[in-house]
Formats: sequence, C-alpha cells, structure tokens
Amino acid sequence: MMTHGDLLAELLFPEITKTPEYYEGLFPQRNLASNAKVTRLAPSPTGFIHLGNLYGAFVDERLAKQSDGVFYLRIEDTDDKRFVEGAEGAIVSSLMFFGIDFDEGAGQGGSGNYGPYWQSQRVGIYQCFAKNMVKNGLAYPCFLAEHEISQIRETQEKNKENTGIYGKWATGRNLSFDQVKSELDSGKPYVVRLKSRGTSGQIIVEDGIRGTLAMPENYQDIVILKTNGIPTYHFAHVVDDHLMRTTHVVRGEEWLPSLPVHIELFDMLGFPRPVYCHTAQLMKLGADGNKRKLSKRDDPELSLGYYREEGYHPKAVREYLLTILNSDYEEWRRANPDLDAGEFPFAVEKMSTSGALFDLNKLSDVSKDVLLKISAKELCRFMVAWSNEFRPDIASLFEGNEAYVEKILDLGRGGNNPRKDLVHARQVFEFIKYFFDEHFAVTDEIPSNVNEEDAKAILKSYLDTYDHGDDQQQWFGKIREIGVSLGYAAKPKDCKKNPGQYKGHVGDVSTVIRIALTGRAQSPDIWEIQQILGEERTRQRIKKAI
Ligand code: GLU
Repeated sequence: MMTHGDLLAELLFPEITKTPEYYEGLFPQRNLASNAKVTRLAPSPTGFIHLGNLYGAFVDERLAKQSDGVFYLRIEDTDDKRFVEGAEGAIVSSLMFFGIDFDEGAGQGGSGNYGPYWQSQRVGIYQCFAKNMVKNGLAYPCFLAEHEISQIRETQEKNKENTGIYGKWATGRNLSFDQVKSELDSGKPYVVRLKSRGTSGQIIVEDGIRGTLAMPENYQDIVILKTNGIPTYHFAHVVDDHLMRTTHVVRGEEWLPSLPVHIELFDMLGFPRPVYCHTAQLMKLGADGNKRKLSKRDDPELSLGYYREEGYHPKAVREYLLTILNSDYEEWRRANPDLDAGEFPFAVEKMSTSGALFDLNKLSDVSKDVLLKISAKELCRFMVAWSNEFRPDIASLFEGNEAYVEKILDLGRGGNNPRKDLVHARQVFEFIKYFFDEHFAVTDEIPSNVNEEDAKAILKSYLDTYDHGDDQQQWFGKIREIGVSLGYAAKPKDCKKNPGQYKGHVGDVSTVIRIALTGRAQSPDIWEIQQILGEERTRQRIKKAI
C-alpha cells in the first residue's frame, strides 16, 4: 500500500526515478587504507578567492597527502546570484599557482569517479535524496509565501519566541495529500523543508581542530530544496560529502553555527558523519593594537590576487602559511632548514582555534629566507613570468636577458652571511632596477662632509685609475689612495680618533662612487656590481656623474 510519504514523493518528483541505493552503488566506499583521509575544497565561484581559501586548502591538501588519501575540488555553483563568469578558472589557477594540487574533481578537469564535481550538474542527485526524505516522512513541501513567513516572524518576535519555521509554525507538516495537490495545481511555489526532530536537546560533536563541542541541537525545519528545485548549501554539501566519501570537511569557523543542522541532516539521511574541522578566522593586528578579522574592504592582502600582483613567490606564501597553520612549524624549520615543507608533520590538532594572526611583515621575513634558497635561475624565471603578467612594460628587461639578470639576482647571496634583500617581485625590481640604464636614477645625496669639488675629484681620479681587471683588493686600494690624497682617512677608525684631522673617511669616498654607479647610498658590494655592469657601463656612469 502506498503511504502518504510515497504519494507525496511521487507527486513532487515524478521525474526522479533513481533511488539512493543506486547512487550508493555508483559511488562505493573508496578503496583506500583505513586511515586515508579524503578532503575537498568546495568554493563558490564568486570571483573572490582569498587567503582563507588557500589557508583551508593547505589543510585539506596536507591531510590528504600525508595519509595517501584524496583531495578533490568541488565547485559549489548552485547560487546564480553569486555566480561570476570566469571565477572558477581564476580559483583553479590561483590555487595551482600556490602549489595546491588536486587529485580529482574540478581542479583536474573533472576527472575522478565521484563526479560530477559541479553542484549545478548534480541537481538530479539532490532531488533523489530529497524525494526519499519526503517518502520517509523526513521532509515536506512548504507553500508559505515570503509575506507569510514575515508575519510569523513578527508574531514570534512579539511573543519573544525563537524565530523560524519549526514546531507549530511549520504548518506545511500537516498538509494532506489533497491540500498539497491543490496548491501544486494552482501553481503555487514551494520549498522542501526538513522535518526536524530536534527540540531543546544537545548534540556532541568531535571537531578535528576544536575537540569536543557541545551545541544545542537543530530544531528548525530548514529549507533543503529552494522553490527552483535547487538545494541549499546545507543539503547539497551533506549529500555530496557523503557520496564523494569525504572523511574530513575542513571549512571556516563561520559555518560553526549551522553545524547542528548539518549533523541532523547526516543523521537523518543515515550517512556516517565526516570529521568536521572548523578553521579559525584569519586575523590581523589593527592600528589600535587589537586583533580583528581581515576584511575584503579594508585589507587588500586578503585577496590572493594581491600576492600574485606583488609577486610573492608561491613557496614563500606556502612557507608562511605553514607557520600560522601549526605553531611548531618554525621550530621544525630551524631544525630542518633544507627539508621540503611537505615533510613537516602537520596535524589539525595543532591548529589555533582562536584566530590565526596574519602579518605581512612576517611574510616578508619568511620570504627573504625562502628566496635565498631559490636558485637565481629559478628566480629569474619567476621574474619573467611575473613581469609578463603584471608589468609587461618591464618584461623585456628580464626576458631574453637572463644571463645578466641571474648575475644580478645572485649578487651577495653566497658565503656565510648572505644578503637577504629580496622579498617579492615588485620589490626585487625596485631593488635591482639601477642595473638597467633606462631605470637608473640618482635618488640619494652624497655625504654632507664631501663637497661638490671633492666629489668630482674623487670620480675623476677613479675614472683615470679604473682598471676593470683589478681584483677586489687592488680596487679598494685605489679608492683608499684617492681618499687619502684628498684628505680622507684610510680607515674609519682613524677618523674617529682624530676627527679634526680629516674631512671624512674612505667610506665617504666609496659612497660617492656608489651613488654614481647605483644612484643609491646603500647597495651590495660595488666591485661586484661593476663586474656585472661591465666596463663600458661602469665608465659611462662615472663619466655621467662627473
Ligand atoms: N561553498 C562554501 C563556501 O564557499 C563551502 C563551505 C564548505 O567548505 O563546506 O563557503
């Protein structure tokens, strides 16, 4: 005999002929070791991919990779209002740029046995599970119009009752088959709601990051299918994470309040619960010294596009994110300076629950160390790619000019105490641009104790005695001589001892030369710079300065 549920289910979803068993069979348990983790990134294609997405993606990726599991990309594109053309491509390319590799799903062109990986292509699946819930009396059609829901809310607010559709307010629960049929016949729109079993009890959930959580259970008849038959996030992700056999759902803590809904859905559908891992918000230290959430409006560094435009190397961003993902990472890094970051034993249990502090200055420090380990060849390739994308006006300085650029990038990086001046591509260009004639400019003043006449005399003698073949010692010996002949101490300490006796010291003399060659009072070693500039360019610059 057909039950009320059977009749209702057929009435609402006549075209759905598959059963949940069919999908359970189509997407069987994955053939993985018992401790293997299956994780996913499930962004909505809204066009804004932010640091939080990358932060979460690292967690997903680490969990899957470390356990020989699977990490896939699912696109949650059921919300037309938020859809932005081209956003999906931007998400995938951004994540890949930062070294996030997907094993399957939308990030792999849709490959994998658990797809489709676009929610918009899964509507039939959601409706099949919704139909089954209606059939089993776990969900029902609700014809309440917008204005009726508002009225209910007003009454509830007046009576100081909890707002929402639940209990006695959930009038759709009691509609007879004939009532539903006549509403449908009259063309009235409806949603499908969960028939929540919850009242005022508690649920206990083990969060992968936060440990045991005790939360009030859900009692709201939340919408599972909207009037257009498209599922809500609540319903869609539960069905998907089950059928795609996700073991760990890593997502932002903004989802914590709706966790009871999701738990109830998993339980009602008879699906085993995944381990939810709610990551802390990324925070920043505000000008007032207080921690605050990074915001899209006020903090450009929230957008991943920012790091690409500035030209942070993906390895630096990765390294930095690991330092905020697990607080013992830095200690591990000090002990293992040469290991790949992938070797670090990452664990969700070691993640912060109170807000991860994001600090651009710290990122820059980390970046300096990371860039030091990247070969000049690779750095040069990075500069070529970055400039082609973001500064085409200067791309020709790098592309086709690699031998020169590599020497520049390697300057002062060897030895025991290497220079750590390089932070990100935009800054690197600023830092090295004096090597390119069209970008050379004098920006610093000669030391105040050197007058114009002396400066000219220094440069003249320098040019006269310049021999490109001099080694570093011969070269410096000449600078000393020039200084001494003009009344500058050969050593800074002589000048300190008898200040009245000298106009200054050899350092002032070399600064004059430095500024002529680089335009700046600070730079790496002048002799090495000259070797890179070459004899002709060196002489030209000195002449020009004179
Ligand atoms: N589509 C949701 C979002 O972009 C995904 C949340 C989740 O990971 O479950 O926020």
